[in-house]
Amino acid sequence: MLRRYIFGFSLALFYLVACKSSGPVTQEKPEVIEEEEEVIFQIGEVTIQQEENDGESGITETYDFAIAPEYKGSATRIMDLEHSTLKIRFDWEKQLAHGNAILNLKAYSRPVDSFYIDALAMIIHSVTIRENGTPKPCYYSYDGEKILVRLNETHTKEQHFQLIIDYTAQPEKVEDEGGSAITDSKGLYFINPLNEEKGKARQIWTQGETQSTSAWFPTIDAPNEKLTHDIFVTVADSLQTISNGEFMSSTQEGNGLRTDHWRMDMPHAPYLVALVVGQFYSEKAEWNDIPLGYHVDPRYTNSAKTIFQNTPEMLSFFSKRLNYPYPWPKYDQVVVDDFVSGAMENTTLTIFGRMLQLGTRELLDEDYEDVISHELFHHWFGDLVTCESWGQLPLNESFATYGEYLWREHKYGRDNADEHLYDMLQQYFVEAYGKQVKLIREDYFHPDEMFDAHSYQKGGLILHMLRNYLGDQVFFDGLNLYLKKFQYGTAEIHNLRQCFEESSGEDLTWFFEQWFFKAGHPLLEVIHNYDEEINFYTLQVNQTHDLQGLGAYRLPVKIDFHFGDSVYSEVLDIRNSGEFYNWEMPVKPDWVGFDASNQLLAKVREIKSQEEWLAQLKYSKLFNDRQNALLYLNEEADNMELLYEACAISLTDPYYRIRIKGMDLMKRLEPDRIASFSMLIIDQAENHPKSATRAAALSLLAYNPISELDKTIQKGLNDSSFKVNGAALNLLEKTDPEAALKQAEKWAESPEDALKYTALGVLAKSTNDYSATFVKAWQEEEGNKFYLVAMISQYLKKSNDAGITITLLNLINDFEPEEDDDFFVVLFIAQCNQQTEAKWQDIKEASIDNPIRQAEAERVLQRIIHIY
Ligand SMILES: [Zn+2]
Repeated sequence: MLRRYIFGFSLALFYLVACKSSGPVTQEKPEVIEEEEEVIFQIGEVTIQQEENDGESGITETYDFAIAPEYKGSATRIMDLEHSTLKIRFDWEKQLAHGNAILNLKAYSRPVDSFYIDALAMIIHSVTIRENGTPKPCYYSYDGEKILVRLNETHTKEQHFQLIIDYTAQPEKVEDEGGSAITDSKGLYFINPLNEEKGKARQIWTQGETQSTSAWFPTIDAPNEKLTHDIFVTVADSLQTISNGEFMSSTQEGNGLRTDHWRMDMPHAPYLVALVVGQFYSEKAEWNDIPLGYHVDPRYTNSAKTIFQNTPEMLSFFSKRLNYPYPWPKYDQVVVDDFVSGAMENTTLTIFGRMLQLGTRELLDEDYEDVISHELFHHWFGDLVTCESWGQLPLNESFATYGEYLWREHKYGRDNADEHLYDMLQQYFVEAYGKQVKLIREDYFHPDEMFDAHSYQKGGLILHMLRNYLGDQVFFDGLNLYLKKFQYGTAEIHNLRQCFEESSGEDLTWFFEQWFFKAGHPLLEVIHNYDEEINFYTLQVNQTHDLQGLGAYRLPVKIDFHFGDSVYSEVLDIRNSGEFYNWEMPVKPDWVGFDASNQLLAKVREIKSQEEWLAQLKYSKLFNDRQNALLYLNEEADNMELLYEACAISLTDPYYRIRIKGMDLMKRLEPDRIASFSMLIIDQAENHPKSATRAAALSLLAYNPISELDKTIQKGLNDSSFKVNGAALNLLEKTDPEAALKQAEKWAESPEDALKYTALGVLAKSTNDYSATFVKAWQEEEGNKFYLVAMISQYLKKSNDAGITITLLNLINDFEPEEDDDFFVVLFIAQCNQQTEAKWQDIKEASIDNPIRQAEAERVLQRIIHIY
């Protein structure tokens, strides 16, 4: 989508303009648009058109109004905050923190007579200045966001002094709304403070990124500030504290209180300062004499070690790969309740959301190792070298996302890593359908907008392209140079470019301009042709995106011509929108790999024969090639013999995900042809080491059951993986429905959610009376009841018993859906309850600017009216 803002009117902006004094620098507050000052935009009758065109569908939307955000840039350094000493204790009942902060400050460069300190929604009790041990008068004012400190005399950068602030933090009064990546911005969070919520821990934790650290202690809250600190935190003796850096000591305070002292003596950014208070099960480990801690809810004692087991190997791998050892004194990883983001890479203290906590058996089916590697890689990219402004966020997030790839590549091999890369590409494309922006951009409304699939996935993909272009040696040398030059400091994207230019000896402006400073991505059409009369292979490469907006991309790509076991390679440097390449070849190649390194960030439509796709599936060593071949054959191929062969090939693919995709493709075959693979499928169902493959094979058997499956089903029901258990139960449903119901009745009582929910799914299809089971499940569920609503709705569709219907309808009608689920929950309820007509009317009326949603509401309404 290409986004353009066409302003059909004149703009007149009046703000409070900063007055510059010729003497010492006086820090001004950020420019504020004063609404009372009248005339903000002169709009008149003119409509501002914002055109959106994705370059494919040609969809154009018109909006009535658009305001372009201002350029942000990095914060001007007025003061340098060298060190902070923080004493803090908490009032759980009122959700307040009482603190005393000593800020060691000096002018950054020019002499200063006044400056601001960030302090969000605090009560400021006192502010004093201490210089050479002597208290000095200090005048200050506070507006709820910043403390303006006026010095009684001008201070030069040689004059170090301390600012001492006594304050009360009131996180509940912080008003900023947060964004999509970080859903809140209170800075300091009291979880279950009065211990009233069942199943939830009583905890305090912090979340500083992007600018919320100043909600729990006064600081200079910008990513280009770097400080060291001492934190003295006083808590009940029964609670643990975890913070950045080294644990120094504990002091008993009497009255059951204890003060812990944590010291961070390496400079890092304020948004990375963190504190966690709570009761955890803590597993200790060590890497190169550096202490490691894994802290989880005590209910996950058995799996804590498994969840984080690869941390030492990750530390070794990243340290070696970057030729830069992990630069911090310890590493704690802690899982907290109700976290506002997925995870946060606070220096030496990563905080994770609850999803990371899985039981030992659940871990057989899924894990969050990408999150673990991501946060750890941030300890170099983000924590050691920090983006100097939020507009440069890809310097943090693109790297951390690429860290996930590097770890997978090292630990699980290229197929596994490439599959992740493929998923990243798809995630970016999903976002790109509605949003295409420059990767490096300072014109956001709120910094949280930067936390998107551009900064993460697209950036990771760009780094992968750069690595391919430069080669491993030059790429990692460049990274090492970047880390060493900017360690404990900050950087912008050009600093990174210069490091790669230094390591490669090549001007890389074209690459950075094209990928970091241009929105969108190339759309390519690649047409393969071999002319047997003149023995010429022709490759036509067309760039079909909006050339006026984006121009032609420069795309270095490798082409592989495959002849049996031998390969002929060539690198093309594509620069124009339409290029023809010819090769004289006496023999037609079996297949030709365009972008043979599978590294291009582009939407590529390749036109070649079904036979060539099949050869690609059979012979390519790279995941994307095989995956794309399967996708093409699934969607386009009409030659059933060829499809049959593709299924046979993929079923023995070395990588399990291709096997699973092959099983999916198999559903396009006739039942007897699927049955011809039975022995192979049963073997996968019973013996494949990956639970996902065993489950997929069982699901394929359920799709096309054959006789003699009893042993396979029993093995599946007893498998250690819940996923396999579920697939086996669904297969049993097909072969012996009565036995399946019996099994489901048993599992519906299981304490394991995975088993219980699979069982309820089976019961939901029955006409027997399972209302008591559903009511019990409803009462037991402490979390999101979304799936239960879906199952009960399904069950109700078959139920003819008025009593049962009313009991269950009352349950789901009382349900307050979480925001995202709302649409679907109401859809389920609508299927069985006429009272929802009013709800759907509301949705329809509220969806004027969302035609798809409005149409869906209309469709459901029609159905409700029809049914009742
Ligand atoms: Zn990250």
